[in-house]
Amino acid sequence: MTALKADERNQDMRKQLMNMLESRKHEMIRIRRHLHENPELSFQEEKTAQYIANFYKGKDCTIQTGVGGGYGIVVTIKGSRPGKTIGLRADFDALPIQEETGLPFQSKNQGVMHACGHDGHTAYLMVLADCLIEWREHLPGTIKIIHQPAEETPPGGAKGMLESGLLSDLDAIFGIHLFPNIPTGVAAWRSGYTMAGRTFFQLHIQGKGGHGSTPHLANDAIVAGSHFVTAVQTIVSRRLNPFDLGVVTIGSFDGKGSFNVIKDSVQLEGDVRYMTPEVQELIGREMHRIVDGLEVQFGVKCRFSYTADYPPVYNDPGLSLLVKESLESMNDPDIRQVVESPMLSGSEDFSYFAQSIPGAFFFIGCRPKDAEVVYYNHHPKFDIDEDALLAAAKAAAQVACHYFEKA
Ligand code: MN
Repeated sequence: MTALKADERNQDMRKQLMNMLESRKHEMIRIRRHLHENPELSFQEEKTAQYIANFYKGKDCTIQTGVGGGYGIVVTIKGSRPGKTIGLRADFDALPIQEETGLPFQSKNQGVMHACGHDGHTAYLMVLADCLIEWREHLPGTIKIIHQPAEETPPGGAKGMLESGLLSDLDAIFGIHLFPNIPTGVAAWRSGYTMAGRTFFQLHIQGKGGHGSTPHLANDAIVAGSHFVTAVQTIVSRRLNPFDLGVVTIGSFDGKGSFNVIKDSVQLEGDVRYMTPEVQELIGREMHRIVDGLEVQFGVKCRFSYTADYPPVYNDPGLSLLVKESLESMNDPDIRQVVESPMLSGSEDFSYFAQSIPGAFFFIGCRPKDAEVVYYNHHPKFDIDEDALLAAAKAAAQVACHYFEKA
C-alpha cells in the first residue's frame, strides 16, 4: 500500500470511530447523569466502581478490578494488530460539597457532589472504550482504559494503580480534564510543567500561658504565630525568582482562647504550590529558617512539618506536540479551536502517572451555554455543558489514533 493510500484508509477508519461516538452521545449524557446523581467520596467509590465494571461485563476486553488495593479498574482492549500500548485515564470520585445546582439529576447523596467534572470524564471514557472494543480490528496496538478512584484526596488513587504494576507496559498515557473556564468546543494543551505540585505544612508553637495582665511572666504563642504569618509572606516576594511560580497560603490559625489569658500554644496549617521540585525545596528551606528564627527570637518551641503530596504535572514535550497537532488537524465542529493553556495552579494526581510514563494531560472546555455566571470546579453550583462529553471522547480518540499512526 502506498503511504497516501494508507493515510486515506486511516482517515476512513477514524471517521468511522468518530461517527460511532456521535451516535452514542446521548448515552454519554445518560451515564454522566447517573454518576452525577450518585456521587461517592474519594476511597469510598464502591458503587461507582461496580457500575463501571458492570458496564464492561460480557464485552470483548479484559477487566481488572480492585487495582491498587482500592476501587481502581483497568480495562484492556487488544487491537487485532500488535503495536504500542497506551493508557487513557479518567477519575471518578466526588467531593464533600452540598450541591446547589437544582438540576433534575442533582446529587442524591447528602453533602457529596460531582463538582469537578469527574462524572463527565468517566462517562465519555466508558462510551469511548466501548466504541474502541467494537472498532478493535482497526486498532494497531493495545489501549488500557484506566478508571481511577480518589483523585481529590491525597495520597490519591493514581499512586496505588501505578504500584500495582499493571501499567508498567504503557508506552504513553493521556488524560483529559473538563474546565468551564474554557468555552465548549475549545481544547487546550500545554508542554512541560502544566499543573502545580502541592505541599501541606503544619506548625505547632509552644509558648507559656499566663495572665493577660502579666505578659512578662508568660510567653505569648499568638505573637510568635502572627510573626510567622507575616514572615512567610516574604518567601515568595523576596526569595523566589520572580519568573517561578510559588504560592504560600496559611489556611488555618488555631489560637482560640479567652480575652484575658495569654495563649500557651497555637497551631497553624497551610498549603504551598509550585511548578518545579526546586521551588518546593526552596520554600521548605525558607520556612524552616523562619521557624528556627521564631525559637531564637521568641523563645518558643516549634514543631514543623512540610509534607509533599501531589507532584507537579509534567507533560512530555513530544506527546504534547502530538496532542496539539492531532487536535489541530481534526476538522471537526466539536473541537473548533485549539489553544495553548497557561500554567494552572491547581494540582492533579495524574502527575504520578506522568512521572513514570511519558504522559500528556490536556483540557476540554465545558462552559455551560448562556450561563450568566460561570461556576468553576469545586463550587456547589458547578455544572458542565454536556456537549463537552462528545468533544472529549473525540479528542481522546483522535489523539490515540494519531499516536498509533506515528508509532
Ligand atoms: Mn478534578
